[in-house]
Amino acid sequence: MTEPRHHPRKRYGQHFLEPVWARKLVAAIAPQPGDAFLEIGPGTGALTRPLAASGAPVVAVEIDRDLVARLAAELPPNVTVLSGDFLALDVLPILFGVLPQQPAARARTGEPTGGSALWRVRVAGNLPYNVASPILFRLLELQKATGAFADATLMLQKEVADRLLARPGTKDYGVLSILVQLEAEVTRLLALPPGAFRPAPRVRSAVVSLRFRPPTVSIADPALLERLVRGMFTRRRKTLANALKPLAAEFGVSSEGALAIAGIAPSRRPETLQLTELSRLVTVFASAGR
Ligand code: SAM
Repeated sequence: MTEPRHHPRKRYGQHFLEPVWARKLVAAIAPQPGDAFLEIGPGTGALTRPLAASGAPVVAVEIDRDLVARLAAELPPNVTVLSGDFLALDVLPILFGVLPQQPAARARTGEPTGGSALWRVRVAGNLPYNVASPILFRLLELQKATGAFADATLMLQKEVADRLLARPGTKDYGVLSILVQLEAEVTRLLALPPGAFRPAPRVRSAVVSLRFRPPTVSIADPALLERLVRGMFTRRRKTLANALKPLAAEFGVSSEGALAIAGIAPSRRPETLQLTELSRLVTVFASAGR
């Protein structure tokens, strides 16, 4: 007996990708031997199936229990479906518990084995647009704590993709651009029209690739950087001297003084700061806090 049709749930941001676009996305991901995938939000499996067809192990986290039950019954054995909220799940121990000891391709070459660390773990997902930013921040948090991921290929609302790619001095540059660009090389892979999904969303979409690498500038205190940029960008139209006042007061310094030591003009706006300048500013505040 065939299952009744799944009715897309708005609260989970369900817009399912048409197969032709799913194949394009998987071609852009280009799975290689030794890759293992963590998929966020497999939905009805549009991406999961072509990813799994490459032979790679896929661990897919889905919040909608109805979809989990269907997927688990339909997908090939190299897919493990986890039921839960990606934001709440401690996904890495499960992922590494599921992966076989070593990738078959490397086992054949006789390279030394080292357990699941030999897998190149890649993230993929057509993200639910309503929680895309928290999912991105969670991915960054996991990456900073473990360095587990090689890259992430993510479908996002076009405006969010623009923010990830934005350069200093542009209107899209902000917290997301800074925190993501610190950890990854970001590139745009595809642009998609609303008609690429069922039901069609009201927004346009884009696929970005985040290639993780060590930060290009050293940050004395990463948690302080996050506090600093979040504080600054809630006052993005103000001058830096004004935007930094609340944080400076907490540290018992003057914002003008901190900016002078960091060699940054107090009249500039938050959105003009390069990563190197942010790094200097964090160092100044970190030493003031000691
Ligand atoms: N990957 C499928 C596709 O491309 O057709 C579905 C994409 S749909 C835009 C987003 C999927 O993420 C939905 O299946 C939704 O139920 C799931 N989802 C939403 N919030 C989630 C969360 N916090 N954790 C895990 N999955 C979530």
